[in-house]
Amino acid sequence: MAESWVPVPPGSGFPLENLPYGVFEGSDRPHVGVAIGDAIFDLDGAARAGLFSDPSLSTALRTGSLNGLLALGREAWTSLRRRVQELLAISSPIASQDRANFVVSRASARMIMPFEVRDYVDFYSSLEHATNLGKIMRPGTEPLLPNWRRLPVGYHGRAGTVVIDGTPIVRPRGQIKQEGGEPEFAPTKMLDIELEAGFVTGSGNALGDPIPIERSREHIFGMVLVNDWSARDIQAWEYQPLGPFLGKSFATSVSPWVVTLDALEPYRTAPPTQDPAPLPHLRAARDWTYDIALEVALQTEKMRGQRASAEIVARSNFRYLYWSMAQQLAHATSNGATISPGDLFASGTISGPEPASYGSLIELTWRGTKPLKLASGEERAFLEDGDEVTMTGYCEAPGKPRIGFGSVSGKILPPR
Ligand code: MN
Repeated sequence: MAESWVPVPPGSGFPLENLPYGVFEGSDRPHVGVAIGDAIFDLDGAARAGLFSDPSLSTALRTGSLNGLLALGREAWTSLRRRVQELLAISSPIASQDRANFVVSRASARMIMPFEVRDYVDFYSSLEHATNLGKIMRPGTEPLLPNWRRLPVGYHGRAGTVVIDGTPIVRPRGQIKQEGGEPEFAPTKMLDIELEAGFVTGSGNALGDPIPIERSREHIFGMVLVNDWSARDIQAWEYQPLGPFLGKSFATSVSPWVVTLDALEPYRTAPPTQDPAPLPHLRAARDWTYDIALEVALQTEKMRGQRASAEIVARSNFRYLYWSMAQQLAHATSNGATISPGDLFASGTISGPEPASYGSLIELTWRGTKPLKLASGEERAFLEDGDEVTMTGYCEAPGKPRIGFGSVSGKILPPR
């Protein structure tokens, strides 16, 4: 493993091989930075000090958001990564006495949204999740609808309510209709999570020009963890025939660090075999996904009172997904629709084959019929006020650097 002048504790998910991008509140204004060990290397400060020779890159790094960098495209991203690795290496050209000026502690930094979300799409790409939801929502029928294995099903969500890790989630109100009753307007009783990961796009395409599947990698900058909060009772009443709306749009949480595809490269792997074979425009000569371990932890008010740590309620993996990111992007632009720097494409709930790997409470508790039994003695069908959910992601394998995503948390507040 490469060594940095910034200490990287053993087991840290933020070695020199990761360098995820984020934005933190500086003393004057938001600064772009990369995570390294327990610190953040201040790219805004480094640009101001003239450490990057490319003027468009220096300008982009001083905007307090990643959108400018995203727009520069893959070549710029790769050369920036190489330069930052050089600056952070033991043999750094930054003089020893100046180095402290460029780092801040991650623990004390306040992270803000790393990029302005231009458009937000949520897919439905886990075969296990789609099958489970089909069984739960439409019992007695074929769980998968006829289009599911032919295209990555998705919908356009609300970009403006994508929020950063730590943002409190107010329990939404909405129209709810119980079986046989009249609809009422009330706080959701079925507040749920969705364990997802999303990719962030860089340079876009021209209107009318689809992005061919073989070129999708050029347009994807990196990935974040996503919790797509869902109100199942609101969703069940509103979704026909146009799909998810207010049951989803009240909030979607993302992790603060964007992990680049370059950092994930050692963990690239083949996605599951698809049957039937997709149409040619969704077929890559060599398709790819990543081996990313994912965990969901829950901490209730009672557990906090007892100073008990959060309890892991699900473990899944990004590589379970049936549809790949390359296929999702090729599909989303196959009609000539454009993408822009800062678009967020979420995977859909990532459920694995085992019940303990299901990525939502509606699956884990089978619509509340099998409540989770927590070590605190409590039971949970869906989330209660005061519950805090934390999703964590990391890549790990013998002989490879550990690549961490950090985590995304949100605590449920009572309805307003
Ligand atoms: Mn979702």
